[in-house]
Amino acid sequence: MNDDEVRSLLRGLPLGHISNPPLRTVSYVDIVVTEEKGHRRYPPEHVLGQCDTNREQGIADVRLFRQQAQGNIDTYQFKLSIYHEIGHVVFQFGLTEEQKQEWYALCVSKIVSWNPAGADPLEHFCDTYAYYTVDATMVEKVFSVEYKFLTKQAFC
Ligand SMILES: [Zn+2]
Repeated sequence: MNDDEVRSLLRGLPLGHISNPPLRTVSYVDIVVTEEKGHRRYPPEHVLGQCDTNREQGIADVRLFRQQAQGNIDTYQFKLSIYHEIGHVVFQFGLTEEQKQEWYALCVSKIVSWNPAGADPLEHFCDTYAYYTVDATMVEKVFSVEYKFLTKQAFC
């Protein structure tokens, strides 16, 4: 896996989600990262990706890491990780305050037990964004409220 391979996975996303700014860089760092909190992890001790945002400057940098000592063995998870991190950029810079409030409101009644980050509405947005990108039909079936939001507010 290298930077170009990582960036090739961004093709097909709405241009507004991957434009620079806010998305300044997307890079692959060929190291195993452990024990950091608050980032997408798999399984469960390795950090897969990280999104650093600077609100004042309006920029974001996304980094993807190696999954295992032996490399990236799960392509599906790797894709989900990239799209999850892009989801952070979309939420931070692509949604209005009203849209963010709408998302928080629709998350209030939900118990998001499948989310490794817990019931954090932001992480739930990023996970839903990632699954929407790889399998929108599944999201429509299982998370119909989120599907409607993403279709109307993000993938429009
Ligand atoms: Zn996240």
